[in-house]
Amino acid sequence: MTRTAVNWAAEGTRENSALRTLRRDFGGGIIEPGGAEYESARHSRLASETDSPAYVLRPRNAGDVRAGVRFAARAGLELSVRGGGHGFPRFGTNDGGVVIDLSGLANVEITGKERHRVRIGGGATWGQVAAVLGPHGLAISSGDTKSVGVGGLTLSGGVGWKVRKYGLALDSVAAAEVITASGEAVRASAAENQELFWAIRGGGGNFGIVTAFEFTAHPTSDVFFGKIAFPAAEAASVLRGWADYLRVAPVELTSTVEFANPFAGSGAPVEVHVAFDGDDPGAAARAIGPVRRLGTVIGDDVALVPMRTRSPTARPCHPASSSSRGARSPAASRCRRSLRSWSGHGPWSAGRSSASAASAVRYPRWPATPPPTPIVRRS
Ligand SMILES: Cc1cc2nc3c(=O)[nH]c(=O)nc-3n(C[C@H](O)[C@H](O)[C@H](O)COP(=O)(O)OP(=O)(O)OC[C@H]3O[C@@H](n4cnc5c(N)ncnc54)[C@H](O)[C@@H]3O)c2cc1C
Repeated sequence: MTRTAVNWAAEGTRENSALRTLRRDFGGGIIEPGGAEYESARHSRLASETDSPAYVLRPRNAGDVRAGVRFAARAGLELSVRGGGHGFPRFGTNDGGVVIDLSGLANVEITGKERHRVRIGGGATWGQVAAVLGPHGLAISSGDTKSVGVGGLTLSGGVGWKVRKYGLALDSVAAAEVITASGEAVRASAAENQELFWAIRGGGGNFGIVTAFEFTAHPTSDVFFGKIAFPAAEAASVLRGWADYLRVAPVELTSTVEFANPFAGSGAPVEVHVAFDGDDPGAAARAIGPVRRLGTVIGDDVALVPMRTRSPTARPCHPASSSSRGARSPAASRCRRSLRSWSGHGPWSAGRSSASAASAVRYPRWPATPPPTPIVRRS
């Protein structure tokens, strides 16, 4: 028997023994190759054909997460953690290891109404959060896509549509419940495990698995949201003026600029997205006015919209990033089909005219062959 074969046998025994313990301690789903759910469970949202973990674990609670972490360590297998599955480097899956898919830990609960304290499961998505907080007039400044995970976005920062007023998503984190690499359950906050609390706010998924976050939400009204488009030829002056204005603009205004929107074909206009945190039309007009004066406005669909239902937080998916194969993939096609029937804002409303009758920008229908390059709005 060769040395390698001996090691394989030893590894197999170790894994089998760890698996017996896992089956005893783990209350969630254990998905293995060949199982009915495996095909859909093996991928993160940005899928690749090579994703083939040996086990996908779907915990129901923090105890299950702990059992999963201990299993991976005992079996000597690589461990990946999946929140919303939207991470660009695809750390939410692996080849031959263990994936802990946190999608079952998605409970969103308002725990302290006066202090706007909210407890959110480590596997929740921002769409699930908005659905619970919206009816209570609360929000957390988060990302622009409904299916992005609270875990991945928050642990690495989180730029949202109210970032200039409320900071990054991580700035609203008050505490977190974490399973460490040794399988210990700890709480991190300004008062407990301060160093871990510091690390998880910006350190990504490297410091343990967050099974629940405690956030401080903020009250929200409807918001003025939309895009103002300028001719491509004015790109340089629009960008310069936009950067100058954003340095002095009221913090209620958050804005991004999009160039070369692939849905609009060649000569795509420059699109300035604006989100004004408030429902006072006068204050919104004063804040957004300088943006409108940056150049020749050829489209303007800014309107008062509920933060929960019409803001970009409610955007269901991203047509080009639904897979690493980008806009050509079946996932991206499904996403485009769903977006065609969704009256959202921004370039994702391809094929529709703008919400505003004043808009002169008309996007073409999707071409028969979608654009080959994945669109990445920000990394
Ligand atoms: C369509 C799209 C739109 C986006 N919009 C924005 C935006 O508006 N603002 C912004 O800031 N970013 C945005 N992003 C970037 C996004 O925040 C990151 O890609 C983020 O990592 C995705 O998190 P996830 O949980 O969905 O992904 P995952 O792939 O599941 O996780 C990403 C990383 O976080 C870790 N992780 C996730 N949850 C946990 C947890 N509970 N405990 C420990 N580790 C965890 C994972 O292990 C992995 O390393 C966007 C991305 C996409 C694809």
